[in-house]
Amino acid sequence: MTNREMLLIPGPTPVMDSIYDALAQETRGHTDPRFAAIYRNAIVRTKEMFKTDGEVFVIAGSGTVAMEMALVNTVSAGEKLLVISHGYFGDRFIKLGEAFGIEVDVLQAEWGKQVAAKDVDSKLETGNFKAVTITHADTSTGVAANLDALIPVIKKHEALVILDGVCATAAMEENMSKTYGSPDAKIDIVLTGSQKAIGVPPGLAIVAFNKTALAEREKLNHVPAYYCDIHNWIPIMNDPQKYFATPPVNLIYAYDEGMKLVLEEGLENRYERHKAFGKAVRSALSVYGMKALAEEEVAAATLSCILYPEGMDDAAFRAALAKKGVIVAGALAHLAGKAFRIGHMGNTTVEMLEKAIVLIGETMNELGYPVDPAKAAERFKELSFVKGV
Ligand SMILES: *Cc1c(COP(=O)(O)O)cnc(C)c1O
Repeated sequence: MTNREMLLIPGPTPVMDSIYDALAQETRGHTDPRFAAIYRNAIVRTKEMFKTDGEVFVIAGSGTVAMEMALVNTVSAGEKLLVISHGYFGDRFIKLGEAFGIEVDVLQAEWGKQVAAKDVDSKLETGNFKAVTITHADTSTGVAANLDALIPVIKKHEALVILDGVCATAAMEENMSKTYGSPDAKIDIVLTGSQKAIGVPPGLAIVAFNKTALAEREKLNHVPAYYCDIHNWIPIMNDPQKYFATPPVNLIYAYDEGMKLVLEEGLENRYERHKAFGKAVRSALSVYGMKALAEEEVAAATLSCILYPEGMDDAAFRAALAKKGVIVAGALAHLAGKAFRIGHMGNTTVEMLEKAIVLIGETMNELGYPVDPAKAAERFKELSFVKGV
């Protein structure tokens, strides 16, 4: 199967033909050694991507299941969690924490801005926080978190770093063996989903725990979960022929192929490509008088939230663009109707994005905004070019 539309929402993202081919293979039993070999391979590739010597979990679920798994295995009811929020998905951790009786405190940035590391420092001074959540790229605002600034501060206060990579993993660096300023200052948990920057259809929750995070689970006698209790999954991740709950066999085929593409492209190449795509898309759209919500220094490599020019009709714009085969997403909360969100992540290509830039310009012309698609395409081509990628 080949895509008929260009799915440029902030996930799911365009799926490559070889991934569809993998998905369409014959469904085997979940304990069949032929399937177990593929599952094992997918787990090994995931460990390689995160560069972790801990455990990774690849299970059925969406990104939200992965968020839940990260939280319930490390923070107990009554313990304190600090949420660093750059928008809607950061805020999701507040609800999650509250659902499990966790004492949640939050630092919310104005939408489009970053939470400052010094504010995190002062907040952590006030009490004994077990963990801090960071949303690597918040899908509502297109703001990226500054890990270099945040992680040293969090580790100074000896809290766990839980990184939500749902809109970043495989596109923005999440290296669990990297130290941030001191030998113990590392990312403890990364959680993600299959359908965003990894570029596989939705349905998998992916979580990596380092040894520190695994040790925290060991200290808890009981966790308020069964499906999401990592104790139930560790034996399966170490021997995928064992059974705990039926894995989504075909999706694991697809994910294994997706991870193969990620590692073949090379993580560094992928990070550079996404950085270039983010800059190029935003700069090209600025030719049309469209401005990103986030300033370039804090903007995510994977998606952008783009403010409409004065008076532009959101529904009319997105519907006309969809007719041309390009799907973008509306904005959330108070930005609904005032902005749209465009994904430029996963396995999107220069050709796809250049075409999308031109079609966005043509749509604007149709709606009575005279702009120059050729000029924007030129700008995009200049900036999206990465040597060797
Ligand atoms: C999409 C997203 C989620 C939620 O993932 P689902 O797969 O929809 O459950 C969480 N965090 C971020 C940053 C996201 O972009």
